[in-house]
Amino acid sequence: MSDCIFCKIVSKEIPADIVYEDDDMLAFKDIEPKAPIHILIIPKIHIQSMDQVSIEDQNLLGKMMIKIREIASILKLDNGYRVVNNCGEDGFQTVKHLHFHLLGGRKMQWPPG
Ligand code: 5GP
Ligand code: ZN
Repeated sequence: MSDCIFCKIVSKEIPADIVYEDDDMLAFKDIEPKAPIHILIIPKIHIQSMDQVSIEDQNLLGKMMIKIREIASILKLDNGYRVVNNCGEDGFQTVKHLHFHLLGGRKMQWPPG
């Protein structure tokens, strides 16, 4: 999608600190980290949000979840981490391209605000 910032990161029009890439997904450091480690994992195809995923996306989503676990392992988040998806207005989603936050390196709080 032409006006989507994450699509522009996928196409390399906008630079990002990429930690993993394959044919289906991209993982890169969040520009405003909320924890010592803050990685965003996105599909390369433009899906607006979790509310837009369909059964055709099940393999992609499954691959992304497994890759998050692998990235957490590579980044030595052995004591735990948090995976977050913000969806829609009430979920406080600011970038309208599906993404998962991988947060670690500090003790998280619960419940979130
Ligand atoms: P959301 O609030 O939609 O769940 O998360 C969007 C995230 O994208 C935020 O944590 C924000 O810091 C990050 N972000 C927004 N624009 C950019 C960018 O241009 N580059 C990178 N690396 N992260 C971005
Ligand atoms: Zn997009």
